[in-house]
Amino acid sequence: MEIASAFQRRGLLFVLSSPSGAGKSTIARMILEADDGIAMSVSATTRPKRPGEVEGVDYHFVTDAEFDRMRETGAFLEWAHVFGYRYGTLRNEVIKAIENGRDVLLDIDWQGTQQLKQVDPDIVRVFILPPSMTELERRLKSRGTDSEEVIANRMSRATAEISHWAEYDYVLINNNAEKCRELVHNILKAERLKATRRVFLHDFVRELIAGRPA
Ligand code: 5GP
Repeated sequence: MEIASAFQRRGLLFVLSSPSGAGKSTIARMILEADDGIAMSVSATTRPKRPGEVEGVDYHFVTDAEFDRMRETGAFLEWAHVFGYRYGTLRNEVIKAIENGRDVLLDIDWQGTQQLKQVDPDIVRVFILPPSMTELERRLKSRGTDSEEVIANRMSRATAEISHWAEYDYVLINNNAEKCRELVHNILKAERLKATRRVFLHDFVRELIAGRPA
């Protein structure tokens, strides 16, 4: 058996959650730039597009009726209400990445993470905390894209999101984006090496042992 094929493994679902403004999108972007082996799952949402967002890159922006139709036809692996809008992970997005031999990065909330854990118990769940609530509010305001009312709403939702941190496999504090990126990347690299993911390694080791008389 070839060493390369022995080390094949099934793609893993790598979930990043945090309250909005904790730097999760920046970390996700940095990971995608640094690592060819992982692709982003682009969710569908009924939320209106923010300035600078691109259809098919940031989200698939859909109407309520379209979201209903997608839900009825089983297009979602999970979906949830967040800030009054609906967001869902598209089954096809995940399958496409995995079939291309890549891992999948999912930027979803705690509700979606709970649902996904039921679908695939092997998922890796990472939670990113802001250094403080004051810093979180400052970051939300500095984006300049949301109204005061939306920011106040996001701050109260942040407290609710943070209360789920202990349901995750890993938890980090984002004091510094580059350091946080490095830690998240290390988690990904270590998870890829987990013995339980190495389904093809059994044959390799059997042949390895058989080929070397004691
Ligand atoms: P935003 O509107 O700021 O892009 O995202 C708001 C929240 O929705 C974020 O916490 C993000 O993680 C979450 N979210 C984005 N896509 C999905 C999804 O497909 N499923 C779930 N459950 N949450 C999502």
